[in-house]
Amino acid sequence: PRAARPDTVRTRTTCGYCGVGCTLEAVTRDGELTAVLPARDGPVNRGHACVKGRFAHGFLVSPERLTEPLVRRNGRLEPVSWDEALRRVADGVRQAVAEGGPDAVAAISSARATNEENYLVQKFLRVVIGTNNVDNCSRLCHSPSAAGLTAAFGHSGGTDSFDDLERADCLLVVGANPAEAHPVVGARLLQRVLHGGARLVVADPRAVGLAQHADVHLRPRPGTNVALCHGLAHVLLAEGLADEEFLTHRAKGLPELASLLEDYRPDRVFELTGVPAGELVSAARIYGRARRPAIVYGLGVTEHLHGTDGVRALANLAILCGAVGTDHGCGVIPLRGQNNVQGASDMGALPDFLPGYGRVADPGARSRAEEVWGASLPERPGLRIPEMFAGARAGTVRALWIIGEDVCATDPDSNRVAEALDVCPLVVCNELFLSGTARRADVVLPAASWLEKDGSFVNFDRRFQRVRPALSPPGSARSDFDILHAVARALGADLGCPAPADALEECGRTAPVFAGVSHTRLDREGAVPWPCPDPGRPGEAKLYRESFATPDGRAHLAAVPYLPPGEQPDDDYPLVLVTGRRWAHYNSGSMTRRSGNLELASTDWLDLHPDDAARYGVGDGRPVVVESRHGRARLIARIGHEVSPGEVFCAFHFPASGVNRLTSGHADTVTSCPEYKVTAVHVAPALPD
Ligand code: SF4
Repeated sequence: PRAARPDTVRTRTTCGYCGVGCTLEAVTRDGELTAVLPARDGPVNRGHACVKGRFAHGFLVSPERLTEPLVRRNGRLEPVSWDEALRRVADGVRQAVAEGGPDAVAAISSARATNEENYLVQKFLRVVIGTNNVDNCSRLCHSPSAAGLTAAFGHSGGTDSFDDLERADCLLVVGANPAEAHPVVGARLLQRVLHGGARLVVADPRAVGLAQHADVHLRPRPGTNVALCHGLAHVLLAEGLADEEFLTHRAKGLPELASLLEDYRPDRVFELTGVPAGELVSAARIYGRARRPAIVYGLGVTEHLHGTDGVRALANLAILCGAVGTDHGCGVIPLRGQNNVQGASDMGALPDFLPGYGRVADPGARSRAEEVWGASLPERPGLRIPEMFAGARAGTVRALWIIGEDVCATDPDSNRVAEALDVCPLVVCNELFLSGTARRADVVLPAASWLEKDGSFVNFDRRFQRVRPALSPPGSARSDFDILHAVARALGADLGCPAPADALEECGRTAPVFAGVSHTRLDREGAVPWPCPDPGRPGEAKLYRESFATPDGRAHLAAVPYLPPGEQPDDDYPLVLVTGRRWAHYNSGSMTRRSGNLELASTDWLDLHPDDAARYGVGDGRPVVVESRHGRARLIARIGHEVSPGEVFCAFHFPASGVNRLTSGHADTVTSCPEYKVTAVHVAPALPD
């Protein structure tokens, strides 16, 4: 390797794109970023990084970066000083509280923000305003994982670390496309299959990258995961592949589940899911006969009308085989999407949970936080994100603070989201760019990016890792941490914890599961998984060795029946649209579209099967109009066999495509996670502009 120039600075930090949590080294010279390199000793990435973490940094110096606050005057956003912007926010918040009480104020926090920022957001809402109206974008992706895994095992997180998967001899990958959405993990999974001898079962409607290496690829119709998992469970029981001893001593709910599973014979599961009985039986045998099986899953499981049931049904498989909380198995691991979606929820940016998942309705959990914060806390759970928009439309939410989210691009049925923002008297956005959401705001506050701030993230296997600033934010942009303090001061309040390290330390006092984690320790050790109640002991990478964290210490099986998705195709809307991610871009694309990655993919496109292309007269590479019961979008068609007949797929990285105008308001019945994975649509060739 070439010797570094003496004026070169290397800053070790954690990737701000996906939830894998790769350790990166940001190289700067004279205050400018010259390279981002994967750290060879990164605990998750071990010298690897993907095309986003490694190269998608052009956005940092984009001329479109916001460098000064904007306030709406006479219908136009105009630059103002920070003092004036903060005054406008404080006046608007005071007015909302005067007119509607504390619950007239709500905030959407961000999985892109650090733990310390998320901690401060929820403290601001609860202590300064007096409401639990705080939520984060995990609502839109893995809230069913939080609910389902907590109910099954006790903690709101994956049961095992990614390192445990290196021991797995069978990988059951469900509703996930890690080769594109979590490339570094996708590569490690593939290594485990190609060189570690693990058998691979992929369950996904699409021919995702890993599927070509699978022993069995199950292609259930979108929205039928619960039936598929029950079919697998039926075979496990019928063929004597369940772990009787584990079920007797460490689990609960077998009689109810066994009774339900009688209705999920492979031939009936074929009718419900389209998966041939022989493939189902083969997959169940591979998982059930493995010595160390692991389940890895993604948003294809959670983003459904019955997403929490899907998580429970998957957890059932691990419990039936005694493959969780034991040396036998490698548990159940959700591949969480955004960099800090685990941490945002861990820090209590949720309407019903305090930091560390104490329920706001639980007097014991509340009084612990009240003691640390010196304030009395509201006990009624707050609004979830979709309820915040409904409240704004109904006039009950009168001030909405959106931190680092382009909700007009990413949230479902986005025409209705835009309506909510337009009628809400005060919308405040912390943003890097003038996004579609920021354009509708009353106050836009210029924010720092992940390469410009100090704090920590929690990755998808519950590891705290440090985030360090390699650069200064442009102009007068500030970190969300500083903005939160400034808004609190403008309201005459003091949030305490002046530095991010103080916030994490204070969080540990409200939430014992994080009490052993601190910036000092992370600087010394690199990564620490939670639960970690003691600074002198390592955190628990693998959970539940002795007992589960449920009230009775047992793993809970769930006898949840399969119920169909919210929308079904019909004569008017004969195709099922599934949305997801592509490898070069990230979510609304606000950062990756402003980087060299735009050359790798310059638009969203619609995958459709050749039979459907012929039926609807759509040509490869030609513009196509996609219409649902909720809206329309315009995309470029790509014809191929990645999708099955009757199904189409697209991403949502280019807001101009309008993909989320198509998606419906159907949401998980337990957590309100939108059903992004099933929307009935029809397609037609687009007329020339
Ligand atoms: Fe960043 Fe995820 Fe890529 Fe790693 S895999 S470099 S965390 S985007």
